[in-house]
Amino acid sequence: MIEFKNVSKVYPNGTVGLKNINLNMKKGEFIVIVGLSGAGKSTLLRSINRLHEITDGQIVIDGHSITAASGAQLRRLRRDIGMIFQSFNLVKRSSVLRNVLSGRVGYHSTLRTLLGLFPKQDVELALNALSRVNILDKAYSRADELSGGQQQRVSIARALAQEAKIILADEPVASLDPLTTRQVMDDLKRINQELGITTVVNLHFIDLAREYATRIIGLRAGEVVFDGPVAEATDEK
Ligand code: ADP
Ligand code: ADP
Repeated sequence: MIEFKNVSKVYPNGTVGLKNINLNMKKGEFIVIVGLSGAGKSTLLRSINRLHEITDGQIVIDGHSITAASGAQLRRLRRDIGMIFQSFNLVKRSSVLRNVLSGRVGYHSTLRTLLGLFPKQDVELALNALSRVNILDKAYSRADELSGGQQQRVSIARALAQEAKIILADEPVASLDPLTTRQVMDDLKRINQELGITTVVNLHFIDLAREYATRIIGLRAGEVVFDGPVAEATDEK
């Protein structure tokens, strides 16, 4: 589903972000990337949908090279990838429903989305997504009236409304308390199992990784130092 072929990333200032990464992430996997701060987790995740451009190698999504893609093909590939951030990235003053509907933007013309005109089926899809993460009752609340955990569930619903086949979550629980952390991780895991969405999550807690992942990838200084099933992951990465 997601293949890294000899992928390297050097930032313009010379910092090495990723060093010759070769990975094959398969459909339906729940992969957790672990590593200390600065290990390259965020660079790796964001290179998948080209939020960060790699400097060498190739990344292939579902048989299509996203590295070589441009224009319509890049937009088409990005449509399949839902992104979840530590800081939620919601439009604070908009309603929860509007935020979830923004996942449909890639399916329509620019004019239509500028006008905020979404067909009825999109609204149904968005409401469905909200009920899947148990916050349907918040659909008409303003996004910034919700708790952190609820806001993160809105961003998961946005990825669902987008009909993403892949979810990339960059430290999705880093700003949440332990109880809310569990709720959000449970939601991600349930969606992964029920819908078969390939999920890649960055975490800095190995304990949480062990509990949720089907596969753990350990990074250190931009290199893969561990890649395997949860049972084999130890504390010293
Ligand atoms: P992690 O997500 O594991 O904390 P990052 O992917 O953010 O790690 O960072 C990997 C390395 O790349 C670090 O050394 C970091 O300082 C560096 N880095 C990240 N972003 C930039 C940038 N925009 N410019 C230069 N160096 C960067
Ligand atoms: P259209 O709008 O003409 O139906 P698509 O949105 O299906 O076109 O595809 C736009 C571009 O994306 C084309 O270049 C096509 O080759 C490419 N493409 C089609 N399907 C996929 C896919 N599953 N993954 C990545 N690229 C695709």
